[in-house]
Amino acid sequence: EDFISVIEKKNESINAFLEVDGDNALNQAEKIDKKIKNGEKVGALSGLVFAIKANINVEDFVISAASKTLENYYGSYNATVIDNILNEDGIILGITNMDEFAAGSSTESSYFGSTDNPAATGRIPGGSSGGSAAAVASLMCDIALGSDTGGSIRNPSSHCGVFGFKPTYGAVSRQGLLDLSMSLDQIGPLGADSSAIAIGLNSLVTNDPKDCTSLKWNSSDFLKPLENNPEELIEGKKIAVVKEFSDVTDDKINGLVDKSLEKIEDLGGEIINLKFDYVDLCLPTYYLINYVEFFSATRKYDGRKYGYKIEDVCGEEVLRRIEMGSYISQQEFSGKYYKRALQARSLIRTEINKLLDGVDLIASPTVPKLPHKIGDKLEPMEMYAYDVLTVIANLAGIPAASMKAGDVNGIPVGLQLQAKPKEDLKILEAMIALE
Ligand code: GLN
Repeated sequence: EDFISVIEKKNESINAFLEVDGDNALNQAEKIDKKIKNGEKVGALSGLVFAIKANINVEDFVISAASKTLENYYGSYNATVIDNILNEDGIILGITNMDEFAAGSSTESSYFGSTDNPAATGRIPGGSSGGSAAAVASLMCDIALGSDTGGSIRNPSSHCGVFGFKPTYGAVSRQGLLDLSMSLDQIGPLGADSSAIAIGLNSLVTNDPKDCTSLKWNSSDFLKPLENNPEELIEGKKIAVVKEFSDVTDDKINGLVDKSLEKIEDLGGEIINLKFDYVDLCLPTYYLINYVEFFSATRKYDGRKYGYKIEDVCGEEVLRRIEMGSYISQQEFSGKYYKRALQARSLIRTEINKLLDGVDLIASPTVPKLPHKIGDKLEPMEMYAYDVLTVIANLAGIPAASMKAGDVNGIPVGLQLQAKPKEDLKILEAMIALE
């Protein structure tokens, strides 16, 4: 009821939710209440309220991916992550705004209008999971689900001052997620603190036979580190910093990251300086792969089965990706663009894993610049520049998270932590210790 009343007061101006089903949520809550009163066993998410990004299938909600293409498409089944939530007695309250088909970093490309940043009114909340981050930041839910292809969970978490986690590729099922770029996409939780993230991961990380890229992995108990004190979680850990990452970042943002590094040292962690020579390669590699995979993913939106023909109704950025993806994947160009992008990707993956070989974590800013004012006109390359520090984790398939590091004149700034594949727990431990 509290969340619903905040939504009633604030959603009109923030536009975090595209659809809310308060009655259904209250019904679910009552059922759980009854179970508790009857002394029945309840699930691990019992009573927690979830907001779901508009590109994850939830039965009977409009799953539009914030595009006119799918404005009348109702989720016809529950994605595996939704079943995971419902099976553990979590409550689904509604569907959140996003960039059209998750292709963006500002949530301005939504067909349903942009979302305001609750922590810095008038500025973008980041994207593409801007509605999910804004819902968490304005206390409209406990946990929100986002998807992260090149930063879309971490970037809006950073701009809105919340916590967001992109798990290892394959750790969380993608079944029921509308693809942006299938070899990079990953679903994950956003929350107001590290315990929300721990609780979210504990129920979301499962093997799913319905997703052929799902990992078979006996992941650890993500709730365990909540019992430890900060020193126990950080002492003796090696945390790398990379000069090439701070070189591309606004100095004020670097200043806040430095404060987090001091805290790591105070808690007994060791800071190690490392080099990464491929920063310039990251955005071109990411976008070439994204264009081609997105072009392929959108061929089903031809106006016959799902909604309208995408090219007839989509926005500028989505059309750019479809046209570029179709162009560069032509057979005669594949050696020139796509194959080279795949080679560059494997180079980036190898090099980042080499860095991670000698350390526990890499710490960096999440986003290199502060969020712009809603409506400011940015060139595509200026918009893509937001992503330079987040795309690496997706290209390499490694886990990465963003937590609030502080703020610059009231505008939140995030600290990003990255680890080796399947070392998601190490990131969570550091987040818990540094919070
Ligand atoms: N901003 C990046 C892009 O536009 C990342 C998007 C995402 O992670 N979904 O592709």
